[in-house]
Amino acid sequence: MCGIIGYIGYDNATPLLIEGLKKLEYRGYDSAGVAVHTGNSLEVAKAKGKLYALSEKLQKIPQLVGNLGIAHTRWATHGEPSEQNSHPILSMSGRFAVVHNGIIENYISIKEELLKKGIKFLSDTDTEVVAQLLDIYYDGDILSAVIKVINKIEGSYALGITCAERPDELIALKKASPLIVGVGEGENFIASDATAIVHRTKDIIRLEDEEVAIVKADSIKIYNKNKKEISKEIVHIDWDVAAAEKSGHEHFMIKEIMEQPKAIVNTIRPRIKDGKIVFEQDGFNLSLDDLKNINKICILACGSAYHVGCVAKYIFEKTLRTPVEVEVASEFRYMKPIVDGNTLVVAISQSGETADTLAAIKEAKDLGARVLSIVNVVGSSIATCSDNVIYTWAGPEIAVATTKAYSTQLCVIYMLANYMAEKLSRINSDLYSSYVDNLLNLPSKVEEVLKNQESIKALAKNFYDCKNVFFIGRNTDYSVSLEGSLKLKEISYIHSEAYPAGELKHGTISLIEKGTLVVALATNDALFDKMISNIKEVKARGATVLLLTTEKHRAEAESVSDYCIYIPKISDMMMPSLAVVPLQLFAYYIAYLKGCDIDKPRNLAKSVTVE
Ligand code: GLU
Repeated sequence: MCGIIGYIGYDNATPLLIEGLKKLEYRGYDSAGVAVHTGNSLEVAKAKGKLYALSEKLQKIPQLVGNLGIAHTRWATHGEPSEQNSHPILSMSGRFAVVHNGIIENYISIKEELLKKGIKFLSDTDTEVVAQLLDIYYDGDILSAVIKVINKIEGSYALGITCAERPDELIALKKASPLIVGVGEGENFIASDATAIVHRTKDIIRLEDEEVAIVKADSIKIYNKNKKEISKEIVHIDWDVAAAEKSGHEHFMIKEIMEQPKAIVNTIRPRIKDGKIVFEQDGFNLSLDDLKNINKICILACGSAYHVGCVAKYIFEKTLRTPVEVEVASEFRYMKPIVDGNTLVVAISQSGETADTLAAIKEAKDLGARVLSIVNVVGSSIATCSDNVIYTWAGPEIAVATTKAYSTQLCVIYMLANYMAEKLSRINSDLYSSYVDNLLNLPSKVEEVLKNQESIKALAKNFYDCKNVFFIGRNTDYSVSLEGSLKLKEISYIHSEAYPAGELKHGTISLIEKGTLVVALATNDALFDKMISNIKEVKARGATVLLLTTEKHRAEAESVSDYCIYIPKISDMMMPSLAVVPLQLFAYYIAYLKGCDIDKPRNLAKSVTVE
C-alpha cells in the first residue's frame, strides 16, 4: 500500500533509491528500508520512522554500494511498524530480499505450513511468506520459482525481488496493486508509482496482474503466468511530478474516491473464507461467552467515523437485536456514561490518533467495558490501547476529507454485525450466506457507481453557487445524508444540514424557499413511498429536489423530483456504501467548480490530535 522503487544500471543504487523513496514520501509511511546487491552479497538497511532515520543509518554502512537494489516505504498492515517488520524482508537464508505493497491474504496458512518445515520467521509481516517460499522453490530457475509463488499466494501484491545469486537482475510482479517498469538507457527501474522515477525516465511499461518482469540493466523481459514471453507497449507519460503523485488525478480526494473498490476488496476479501466471515488475521479474541454477555454496544467516534457509527446503529440493532448507543467521543468524555463489563465499545477512527476518541476509550475502559476499535493505521494509539482491533486496510489517505476510510469502516461494520449474529445464532444461514455474497459483490457495485462520475460532474454545474443545501433520508439513508452533508460543507464551504426526512416538518421546513436544494436519499425500498411524501412536502415549498434512488423507482423518481441519480441495488444493509459515493463525487465537483482547496480545506486537519 505504500512505496516501492527498484534500480539496476550503471549508477550507485543507494542514493538513487533514497531519492525515489523521498518522492513517495507524500503517501505517508511508518518505516523504510533498502537492499543493495554489492556484487558479492545482499546488504540491507532499515529504519522505523522517517527517511532521515534511514539516511542516517546508511551513512554508517559505507559498504552498501552496488548497481542493483530495491527499496520500500512501508505502511504497515500486518505487524507493528518496527525495524524488524520493515521491508526489504529477507528469507531465512538471506538469499532473497523482497519488498511488497498489499496484503497476502492466505499468509497464515502458508506460514503454519512453513513453520512445520522448520523455517524460522523473523518478522510479523504477511510479506515474509513470499521471501521464504522463493527460497524453497528456487533451484536456479527464477521464473519458475516466481510462478510457483504466484500460484501459492492469494491477495494483492506489488513485489520487487532480488536474489543474492543473481547480481544482474531485478524481478517484479503484481496483482491488484500497481507496479511499473521504468525504461532507461543502460539502466532500468521498477516502481509502485511513476512519481518515484519520473525525474529519471518518463518511459514506462505497466505490468498487468500476474505478469513477471525480469529486469536487467540493458533488457526487460516480461512473462505471463505460463512462462511465455510477451511484448508490452512502452508508454511515455507527460505528467509532471505533482500530477504523478496523484496518479494523474488533479486531487488526492478524487484519487481516493476512485480507489474505493480496491480499498473495499482489501478490507473484505481477506476476511471471507469458504463463505464465512472470519477475523483470523485480526487475532480476534471475543469468545462465544464474551459475545453472549454483551448487552449493549456503545459506538465512540468523531466526524465521518461518527457517521459510520450512525449507520452501524441501524445495522447492529436490526441484525443482533442488541441496543446500540452512538456517542460523539468529545461528549462521551464529559457525561456520566452508562457502560460496564457487559458493554462492547466500538471505537472508530481512521488515524487511530483522534484525541477525543482515545480519551473516551480510556473512560470506557475505566468503567470495565471491552473495547474493539476499527482503525486504519496499524500500531496507532487507539489500536494499541484496545482489546481488539480490526484494521480497515484502506491504505494511506491523504485528502483531509475522508472517503475510502469511511467506506472501509462501513464494510467492517457489515462484517462485524453478521459475524456476531452468526456466532450468536441470531441470523438464519440463508440470509447470512446472501449477506456474504453481497459483501463480495460490493466492490464491483461501487465500481458501477463510479462510472457515473461524468453525469454527477454535470449535475454539480447546476448547484455550485447555491447557499444552503438540505440532505434528507430515513433510516440508514439518514445516516448517509449526515456524511453527504458533511462532505459538501467541509470542502465547498456551502452551508448544509442533514435531517431525518420525517423530522423536517417539525421546524426546519421553514427554511425551505424557492430554489433551495434538497438532496433526498431513497434507497430503501420499504421506505420509498414515505420519502416520496417528504419530497412532495419540500417541493410544495419551492425546493429543487435531487433524488438519489435505485433504477427500480425511475418512473416515480422522475415524476416527483427535478434531478435524479440512480445507483445499483444491493442488500438494504449495504446500500450506504453505494449511496455515499455519488455524494462524495457531488461534493468534490461542487468544491472543484468553486475553486476550493479540496485536499486541504480551510481550518481542518487530517488527524485531530487535540481535544
Ligand atoms: N502487508 C505488508 C506489511 O504489512 C505490506 C505493507 C505495505 O503495503 O506497505 O508489511
